[in-house]
Formats: sequence, C-alpha cells, structure tokens
Amino acid sequence: MRFNTSLVHGGVKRNDKNGLTQVPVYQVSAFGHESAGELEKIFANRAAGYTYTRLGNPTVEAFEARITTLEKGIASVACASGMAALTNAFLNILKSGDEIVASASLYGGSIDLFRDFEAFGIRTVYVENNNWDAFDAAINERTRLVFAETIGNPRLDVTDIRKLSELAHGRGLPLIIDNTAATAYLVRPIELGADIVVNSSSKYINGSSNAISGVLTDGGKFRWDYEKYPGLKEYEKFGPYTYTAKLRNGLFRNTGACLAPQNAFLNQIGLETLGLRMQRECDNAAALAGWLQSSYPELTVNYPGLADSPCHEIAREQFHDRYGAILTLRTGSKESAFRLIDALKLPYILSNIGDVRTLAIHPASTISLHSTKEQQENAGVFDDLIRISVGIEDVEDLQEDFEQALKQIKF
Ligand SMILES: *Cc1c(COP(=O)(O)O)cnc(C)c1O
Repeated sequence: MRFNTSLVHGGVKRNDKNGLTQVPVYQVSAFGHESAGELEKIFANRAAGYTYTRLGNPTVEAFEARITTLEKGIASVACASGMAALTNAFLNILKSGDEIVASASLYGGSIDLFRDFEAFGIRTVYVENNNWDAFDAAINERTRLVFAETIGNPRLDVTDIRKLSELAHGRGLPLIIDNTAATAYLVRPIELGADIVVNSSSKYINGSSNAISGVLTDGGKFRWDYEKYPGLKEYEKFGPYTYTAKLRNGLFRNTGACLAPQNAFLNQIGLETLGLRMQRECDNAAALAGWLQSSYPELTVNYPGLADSPCHEIAREQFHDRYGAILTLRTGSKESAFRLIDALKLPYILSNIGDVRTLAIHPASTISLHSTKEQQENAGVFDDLIRISVGIEDVEDLQEDFEQALKQIKF
C-alpha cells in the first residue's frame, strides 16, 4: 500500500460484524470475564484478552496498529503524551550510570526531561547535529543510546538518519528518533536504520489540536547485548519483540502512561488525513518561506526548503522534495518579534505545532524558557525568533496577513 492508502486501510481489521469502519471508543476502565480462570490466563500472558485499560484497550490498540504500519515497525505503544512516550522509550533500556548521546537541537521538553534524568544518575551528552566526529567522540563505554529529532524543533536542522544509524550501530548502540516534526509522511526513520521512533501524536498525527498523546514504534531489528542492557535479558524469548515486551510488562504499565481511548479515537480520525494535510501544509510553508525571504530582506527566514538552508540537501534527499511545515523568522529583536506575532490576525498564538490552523510562538519565552542560554542557542532559539507552524489555509490569505502585519513593524 502506498502512503495515503495505508492511512485509511493499513493495520485495519475489517472483521466487525456490523461493518464498522472505525474501532469505536471502548470507554471502559476494565473488562469483565466469564471465569476467574480465564482472567488468570490473560494476566499470565497465556491467553489474549483485555483486562484493564492501563494495560490495553481495543481502541488504543487499533491506533497502535495503524502507526506500526505507517512507521514500518513491528509494534507500537501509545502513551498519554509525547513526553510519556519519550520517557518510556528511554527508560526502558537505561539504568543509573548510563549515558545518552543526543543532538543538541532538541525540543525544549526533551532537554528538560534529560535534566530530570540526572537525579537518577543518567547523564546526557549533547553534540551538534550531523557532526559525525562529535557524535563519535561523545560515545563512551557508558553510552546506551543515541537520540535525535528528524527535524530539530525549532532549529529546523535535518538529521541524516541513515548516517547517524550507521554510526550508532557501529558502536553497538540503538538510535532513537523523534519524528514528530517530520511525520511518516516525509520519512520513515526505521527504513533508514532507526531502531525506535517516537511521535508526539498531539501534533500532525492528530492534526486539529484536540488530544494530547504520543506513540513509540519498535523497529524490531536491533540486536540487544544483554550485558549492556541486562533488563532486557528476561524478555529475550520474545525475539524481535524483546524491547516492546519489556516495556509493556514493566515500565509502561507501572508508570501508568496509557493513552485514553477517546484520544486514540480522535487520533485515528486525524491520522486518515495526515497525507492530505502534510502535502498542503508543506506546500504552504514552502510558498510562504520563499515569499517572505524574497520580499523582506530585513527578516532572516529559516526553512529546510530554502536553497540557502544548510540542511537543504539532506532534506531534499531524505524527504523527496518536501520540507516540512514549520519555518522560523528572526526579526532583529524580541520587541519586534512580539509586535509581529501580535499584529498577525490569522495565526493562533499558542504552543503547539501540526494544527490545521497556522500557529505562531516566541520559543525563547515559552517552550524553551527552562533551557539555559547555551542550550537555547544550540537548539536554534534566539530572543528575536518566531516559529510558525503553517496550516492548511489558502496561502494567499496567509501572505496578505503577513503583509499587513509586517507593515506595522518598524525593524
Ligand atoms: C510536542 C513535542 C514533544 C512532546 O509531546 P507532547 O505530546 O506535548 O508531550 C516531543 N517532541 C517534539 C519534537 C515535540 O514537538
């Protein structure tokens, strides 16, 4: 199945006796059974079935199956948020004394999470993205995973996933990729060698900002060394599912990171139009970025689709001529950045990406507020920077709105 076909048919079981086209919302906390023996079997993993929604729910499972197909993995675990999915993805294979090597160009929340890990003896070493020598030098005998975002949010640098996965695998390490800003529409990181892919499905997958959620997908190909990852040993018998089996039987259920069935349902509806929305949003972003760059030399426009972007070549190859739907503008000062945001009439001023509506935010005072100045600059956050998540509006209306807003700004 090609991408748009798989969005509506992939991973879908067409066996409902009433001909339902969607798995309905199983809005229950727990599932009743015929006998105590039957429930015992399910709890002991000796029979399939549902027991308690924190451990599994048919609506959530249907969403997971579709994401697995889309990201070309073998299993997915849907979580209450993107941050819950990231936390579970990392801690499933880490213990005190371990280290993470991560691209420095990360979503602010991930940087905050890595700071929280320090209290548990897990250290993160940041390196400049796509700097292979720096990645190589940062890896040592304590390193247990390599992490990057496909498109750094909001630096908009594009990770060469194939190269980074070769580097990580060469050092015996799995590569975890946050694919939130790119989505499976632009790239399936597992196809390029990533081992675990995480999506904040609150963003493009949902598409309308109506539910917080996240999902991680296991590629199933990494060969775990049980001396380095002793916690996985017990799950060796699950073969390619070792990582997911450990997660489901341990951290995921015990941290209570489960996704609500209602939110899984909303995501499934969103998912079906991911291709249409991304196509339109990427095209709108490309048109808007090109127009802003050529019409307003006083603005610094950053978008991977622009020929002068340092990531243009990687993006062109990896994403096949589309470049995502986020662009950033530097206006020269925090004051002018605020004035521009306030003068725009169409974009919502809110902290999200991937909505059908265009969104604008000043990252330094919001999503990256808790990062240090150095962390902010490494993540591409500056005092005069605005991030625009471009929606599906008619691009002429967006241009007219920027035109009237920029008229009011004195640079
Ligand atoms: C939003 C976001 C997250 C966190 O997801 P939530 O659903 O808000 O918890 C993680 N990574 C990236 C790149 C994001 O944009």
